[in-house]
Amino acid sequence: RPIFEMIWGRRHRWENRTAYVCGVTEKSFTYNETYRNVLRFSDALDKRGYKHGDVVAACLPNCVEMPVTVHGCAARGITTTTLNPLYTEDDIVRQLEISDAQAVVAHPLLLPTVRAAAARVPTVREVIVSGQDSAPEGVSSFEELLRQGREQTPTVDIDMKKDPVLLLFSSGTTGLPKGVIQTNYCLGSNLLQATSEDFAWEVPGEERFLGVLPTFHTFGMFLYVFKSLITGASTTLLPRFEPEMFVNALTKYRPTALHLVPPLVTFLANSPTVTAETLSSLKVIFCGAAPLGPALIQRVLQKIDTATFIEGYGMTESSPVVSFSSISKGSRYGSCGVLLPNTELKVIAVDDGRVLDLGESGEICVRGPQVMPGYYKNPEATAATIDQEGWLHTGDVGYCDKDGFLFIVDRVKELIKYKGFQVAPAMLEDMLRKHAGVADAAVIGVPDEEAGELPRAYVVTSDPAITEQELADFVNAKVNTYYQLRGGVHIIDAIPKNASGKTMRRDLRERAIRELE
Ligand code: ATP
Ligand code: MG
Repeated sequence: RPIFEMIWGRRHRWENRTAYVCGVTEKSFTYNETYRNVLRFSDALDKRGYKHGDVVAACLPNCVEMPVTVHGCAARGITTTTLNPLYTEDDIVRQLEISDAQAVVAHPLLLPTVRAAAARVPTVREVIVSGQDSAPEGVSSFEELLRQGREQTPTVDIDMKKDPVLLLFSSGTTGLPKGVIQTNYCLGSNLLQATSEDFAWEVPGEERFLGVLPTFHTFGMFLYVFKSLITGASTTLLPRFEPEMFVNALTKYRPTALHLVPPLVTFLANSPTVTAETLSSLKVIFCGAAPLGPALIQRVLQKIDTATFIEGYGMTESSPVVSFSSISKGSRYGSCGVLLPNTELKVIAVDDGRVLDLGESGEICVRGPQVMPGYYKNPEATAATIDQEGWLHTGDVGYCDKDGFLFIVDRVKELIKYKGFQVAPAMLEDMLRKHAGVADAAVIGVPDEEAGELPRAYVVTSDPAITEQELADFVNAKVNTYYQLRGGVHIIDAIPKNASGKTMRRDLRERAIRELE
């Protein structure tokens, strides 16, 4: 069934339950109210001439206009593409051009940048500002569109496998972000997989989510625009991560489930303002998106031992979920759980592509209904990523153990090549985090004429007395010879992260080159 029917066909179940709360204005919307706004927005789009196959861009922090836009578009076979609210004018132009967007929905604070960008892209015919009753000259008002629209259920013939619901961009951790097509079929399949019996950690109609992960990214989008609705959860949307706002919201809204990325887990672990009491409403803590490592999980669980810690793995190209902890098998710290139903896994050697045995580490390949049909308007990149047999080559290194638990070691591109050995930076980062005085760490390879590359650590310390030598000794005493931090340890103020919580090792590599010059 098309996504729109899948989500809203069962709306009667949650009618007067709160669907969304705006964490800033504290305004809340029931499922009924949200549905009515979706219908109105959808009808207004139709009246303004937007059609099946068009693309609407959304440049929004987490707010209720995001689900209304996405579902209002999906109802008409219109695709939503989401822009990172921190994008510059040029970044926005690039994505609007790639996606051929005809309209942009923008938050008032982002309006000047969005307007300037939209003016440079000929396909864009309208900018719609969210959350305001009136709009400046030349801009439409989202509220006005809601007033104009009728509450009519649209009738559109959706082609499940062809019609994209979303055109999402990958995080740009390894290069420029790539446009990924998420069709009704991929996204719908992934929703069914991720809510299937053995993965249904939530009690339908009873959960409270605190939505701090950005919804422009596949992870937050999946959770707070789709999964929350199908689960009947009430989601409080926070526009950004800001420590005080986040801790206050934990206390005020008492979420039952929290979805995090590693920098947020680091925050929970290290911040003195986060106590057992702050976290006491939680039943599950879910983390994904980047390597986490057991050391950090242990630190959080020292504060709260009543919640289950769940880890998952996925990517924009897989709509996004591939694996997470199942109820029957439970969590195994350091592993990102087991494969979702109907998902196949193959591990191949990084050098020659031969299929490896269980337990052997190599590139993870994934096949299943949630795998994208391809990158948007980029057949070369698609052919390089999805092979003839439908396997998605993830670019991640990992292995599966005999019980079916998947372990991600690191990305193929990030492995440090020391004298023909491959060193996984994530393992060294986890080791550094075991040191009580380490708040955060990132490891990269720095060029070396003799050895090829040497592992170097950048560390943020929570104790000013700690020395770089002490940290190097701490790690080197525990690891084998090629894992030694021969590139040194450097204490810095902060580790660069992108909006989806990934360490920007690219930036650190550039920094290292400057340091070496
Ligand atoms: P780009 O493809 O543009 O370089 P990206 O790969 O970071 O950026 P996303 O699709 O947001 O873009 O992220 C998917 C990637 O995140 C995965 O390929 C993997 O490297 C990493 N990842 C996701 N979950 C985990 C996890 N649990 N453990 C380790 N890495 C993870
Ligand atoms: Mg990627």
